[in-house]
Amino acid sequence: MARDIVDDRLIGALHVRALTRAGLQHDTVDEHVAVQAGTLAALLEGGYDGDATLAEVLRLGDLGLGTVQHLDGELVVLDGQAWAVRADGRVDALDGSVRTPFAVVCQFLGSASVRCESPWTLAELRDQVDRTARDVLGAPDDEVVAVRATGRFSNLRLRSVARQHHPYPPLREVVAHQTEWQVDSAVGTVVGFRFPDTLAGVEVPGYHVHFLSDDRTAGGHVIDLTMLDGDVQVQACDDLHVELPVGVSLGTPGAVDRDEVQRVEGGKTTS
Ligand SMILES: [Zn+2]
Repeated sequence: MARDIVDDRLIGALHVRALTRAGLQHDTVDEHVAVQAGTLAALLEGGYDGDATLAEVLRLGDLGLGTVQHLDGELVVLDGQAWAVRADGRVDALDGSVRTPFAVVCQFLGSASVRCESPWTLAELRDQVDRTARDVLGAPDDEVVAVRATGRFSNLRLRSVARQHHPYPPLREVVAHQTEWQVDSAVGTVVGFRFPDTLAGVEVPGYHVHFLSDDRTAGGHVIDLTMLDGDVQVQACDDLHVELPVGVSLGTPGAVDRDEVQRVEGGKTTS
């Protein structure tokens, strides 16, 4: 295992370990560990092939998000099953052989929860997760926080991206042509993570959430929504294991153009 670890460091309160794909295959399942394939920096530069398979990633976590090979949609991992929301909004179940250039999952137990009884904006939902992570779980601001919010939602603004072909353009060009749509109301689940700013480049700093409806007809990367009611479960992870495809390094976490990340992953269009 040791030679499969290519980097190992403490970033604030978060232990970050970079692994080879072989290391990922031998890694042990642990609810305190968020597991990631690829890096955001590599994705921003057009690395859309990936080498880890969904089977390898899902062995280590049952909740998460990301994208799939060729950037062919937004990935949602819920209850151990992987789904892709394509650029036309269609939701497809994925099998374990599909590769991912960028995904993060955790074994989700939902160690704390908070009930939504009156409508929350997306900002209010984030505040509730922040508060629960801090006050109930005692999680430092620079740990990874996973969230699973189940209930009724309205005014969902969702987006996805279109499958790309070689030579791959950088992500900012793809996102400039992203498709975005509105769903008036849906029953379903929001899954996602809060990553600390210190991990910018490795991951999307701040909140990154995806949605999947219970009837599997709607989903995508969440730009905005209102949560009407439901349960919000929260879990903190103090370890992050990152699988690095050949040729990808961990880089210098935190040293990335945050405006660029916000433009691309925050869902704000570039123009
Ligand atoms: Zn996303």
